[in-house]
Amino acid sequence: MGEFDLIARYFTRPARLAVAGVGDDCALWQPQPGMQLAVSTDMLVEGRHFLSTVAPQRLGHKSLAVNLSDLSACGARPLAFTLALSLPRLDEAWLQGFSHGLFSLADAHGCELIGGDTTQGPLNICITVFGEVPPGDALLRSGAQTGDDIYISGSVGDARLALEVFRGNVKLEAGLFEAARLRMEQPVPRVALGQALRGIANACIDISDGLIGDLGHVLKASGVGAVVTTGWVADSAAISPALQCLPMSRRLDMALAGGDDYELLFTAAPDQAQAVQEAANDCDVPVTCIGRISTGQGLQVLDIHGVPVSRRFVSFDHFSP
Ligand code: ADP
Ligand code: MG
Repeated sequence: MGEFDLIARYFTRPARLAVAGVGDDCALWQPQPGMQLAVSTDMLVEGRHFLSTVAPQRLGHKSLAVNLSDLSACGARPLAFTLALSLPRLDEAWLQGFSHGLFSLADAHGCELIGGDTTQGPLNICITVFGEVPPGDALLRSGAQTGDDIYISGSVGDARLALEVFRGNVKLEAGLFEAARLRMEQPVPRVALGQALRGIANACIDISDGLIGDLGHVLKASGVGAVVTTGWVADSAAISPALQCLPMSRRLDMALAGGDDYELLFTAAPDQAQAVQEAANDCDVPVTCIGRISTGQGLQVLDIHGVPVSRRFVSFDHFSP
């Protein structure tokens, strides 16, 4: 089997909404009149973004999930994606698992694979997603207003917890580890919630590098500060049973700076609190209020007694010294 058979066999399906999909020099897409295009790219590099032990099916899922998470953070509806793949060798079992995981998630969101590139090299997966959003409706990092409540979807810290178990730094009972590992290897992008928050949230970002660091991007883009409380780390839907096994200080580290969560962090005016809960219920995702946007610059984290936490929560940065 060569490159073109590989593409035909594992990555070519009949075009659905695309005018032209895989097989020509360009894919063609007819945009809906009047809609804005939302575009995002994320690359996954072996050893950097995933462990070589991950099942190919989960890796296929995650490669698309992290991209759909970016669309969700903007409130965009997924349409299509391209896949640039660098593979060390032609391994059919791997390709079967990978494409199955990839297309299962793609089909669940009606997101069509319309093209890509395939080369030999170190394992590296780069996806670009295209989505649409009505003009003016996109959720941006820059919209947070003083007085807004700050919310997160789902739960945070589990992916980091699983990573620390893999690294041998934490021990966890088998069932709890499997649950945390699933969150790391097969995150669920909050596609429906992102769209449901249009017109309700003032600002939104997806948590990929760590809650505090990603909130920092919102604060900087919006020119505001924030106070984050931590009572929810002691007890709330945002902390999984696995994470509850850890003492509070380690929990704080993983929840606030763990990364790889792919949950939405968003802000909304207090008078939108009920609308937020309704959107969350409609999408079957819990949301937890974790703090409030304040005037001025800076971010303060308060412990469960309301005392400022002095230590810093450092998020992931590929080039941090
Ligand atoms: P070109 O040489 O014109 O760049 P390629 O030979 O790289 O074209 O690819 C042939 C066709 O297969 C193109 O339509 C391209 O978009 C598609 N393609 C290549 N790799 C992938 C992939 N991994 N997934 C989906 N489509 C792919
Ligand atoms: Mg090419």
